[in-house]
Amino acid sequence: MSMVTGAGSGIGRAIALLFASEGSKVVVTDVNDKGGEETANMIRGNGGDALFVHADVSRASDCENAVREAVKRYGQLDILVNNAGIDLPRAKPSADFSEDEFDKVISVNLKGAWLMSKYAIPEMLRRSKGIIVNIASVAGIRPLPLAMPYSVSKAGLIMLTKSMAVEYGNRGIRVNAIAPGWVSTPMAVRAASAYGTTYEEFTKQFLQRIPLGRFADPTEIAKVVLFLASDDSSYMNGAVVVVDGAISIA
Ligand code: NAP
Repeated sequence: MSMVTGAGSGIGRAIALLFASEGSKVVVTDVNDKGGEETANMIRGNGGDALFVHADVSRASDCENAVREAVKRYGQLDILVNNAGIDLPRAKPSADFSEDEFDKVISVNLKGAWLMSKYAIPEMLRRSKGIIVNIASVAGIRPLPLAMPYSVSKAGLIMLTKSMAVEYGNRGIRVNAIAPGWVSTPMAVRAASAYGTTYEEFTKQFLQRIPLGRFADPTEIAKVVLFLASDDSSYMNGAVVVVDGAISIA
């Protein structure tokens, strides 16, 4: 069975739905109860098996509880996707961010992935088997303009991926990351307003820089997550898979 954090919206929802359509039982977690319940209901409506558990990934007690509930319901935890993430309400230069803004983004995007892994890994070690996929960003490789805390959080997530891959690879756990470029989700819509523009203007501006000429659909990210969560990627460990339409090299 699999657990997806931040699965109440966007990319996380697409991952949860795809996993369920492939026959996986899915523990949907999110801080947003409405979105999380909706995703779990969509899975059940399609004949799948899902459990929603409220979890703010920046809180250790929530992460511990989510793993406990998952194991109580399904007996084991095979796959963890650390997808939950937040962006910044305003784009600005590094020195202008407040301490609170910096702490919040780091505590969800970076600490949250570590905390959920911290409680999931002992369950995986119990069976010497497990897969973790972290949803980073190309911003963790090449800075997103005027979004330093976000870029730093994603760079940290990439290093968390590599550290855990090296530590747990010989104990049956593979850990990989995906670095998406722009994906059409509510986060991308919020990003437009962070840059003080409309979504239409924002997409027009960025589309010129994306060689594929469009934003990704969340399902296009989910399919790569599915590959990393399957035995088809059995020799991949500590990798960062860029799925960005080539924006990061253009
Ligand atoms: P999204 O549509 O905003 O979905 C994120 C989900 O995570 C929302 O349901 C959100 O709840 C939830 N969440 C926020 N804080 C949380 C917390 N502390 N604990 C648990 N859940 C929390 O965003 P998305 O675009 O799908 O992004 C998913 C991941 O992909 C993020 O890590 C993001 O950084 C990454 N990513 C996105 C893009 C992109 O262009 N969209 C590109 C590269 C990487 P609320 O709705 O209540 O906030």
